[in-house]
Amino acid sequence: MMTRRRLEISRRQFLVAGSLSIGAAYLMPRSLFAQAGDLVGDALKASATAKIVVQTLRRNVSVLLGPGGNIAVLTGPDGKVVVDAEIVTTRPNVSAALASINSDPIKQLINTHWHFDHTGGNEWLHDAGACILAHENTREHLLVDTRVEGWKHTFPAAPAGAIPSTVFKDDYTLHANSTTLVLKHYEPAHTDSDISAYFAEADILHVGDTFWNRDYPFIDYSTGGSIDGQIRAAEANLAMATDKTIVISGHGAIGARADLVLFRDVLVEIRDKVAALKKQGRSLPEVIVAKPGARYDAEWGNLFMTPSAFLALVYQGV
Ligand SMILES: [Zn+2]
Repeated sequence: MMTRRRLEISRRQFLVAGSLSIGAAYLMPRSLFAQAGDLVGDALKASATAKIVVQTLRRNVSVLLGPGGNIAVLTGPDGKVVVDAEIVTTRPNVSAALASINSDPIKQLINTHWHFDHTGGNEWLHDAGACILAHENTREHLLVDTRVEGWKHTFPAAPAGAIPSTVFKDDYTLHANSTTLVLKHYEPAHTDSDISAYFAEADILHVGDTFWNRDYPFIDYSTGGSIDGQIRAAEANLAMATDKTIVISGHGAIGARADLVLFRDVLVEIRDKVAALKKQGRSLPEVIVAKPGARYDAEWGNLFMTPSAFLALVYQGV
């Protein structure tokens, strides 16, 4: 039932979709534009005008909340270090939001994983002076055309300026702006390229798309993700956070450890229910009708993922 796996763009997030300005169209890569009409194309259009909110967190760390992945920003005399790069068409608004924090130049970009809503700004941020650092699988996926079956979209190889120049396998530690920034790779979870970024002195943990705050997650089976992997990463996040840790989700509001617990619990509950139904021989449409996530659907099923789209991803992995 491929039609049931279609992802739907939420009214909340992408109501701003409308006619493209000439400027935004100019910024949009031709190869992506050609596929417009799918979720990715619609997201590229809507993001050109979507608002970016700047939230100050703790010490010298802020976050930009926009239509794509949340961006962490560390400021100081060494220049800005940013974690994630949004959707390419947010460039004017992300650029303005970064400048509104202070005039520090942008020196370092870190990608939490390879997806277009976290690496879309790689090329322009590199042009603006940032070196790009990521897990080695992020580089591998960006170097070649990569299909995401769950979005029914093939992403063309990224331009040279968007490719991470430094990569690592297990972990990597950076020192900048009186901050120790510890990067750690997860076992395959949302993709096979996910990393966390922990700002040690500020006790702020950016976990990328291993955590969606009160939203069902997208899981990218095409590049190594799975529901079980997503749950293992949720457990790993619990081990890294204390009650004082500020947690930056990939999508949704800033959270705390209690939100990580809830996310893990919701995923486990729905995974177990779907697994039991599948074991009884129920088809995906039957599982969707059974509404195993009924308690959460109204709140959790309205960002990128409808309840049925999420159930399809769980069903695929159990
Ligand atoms: Zn993602």
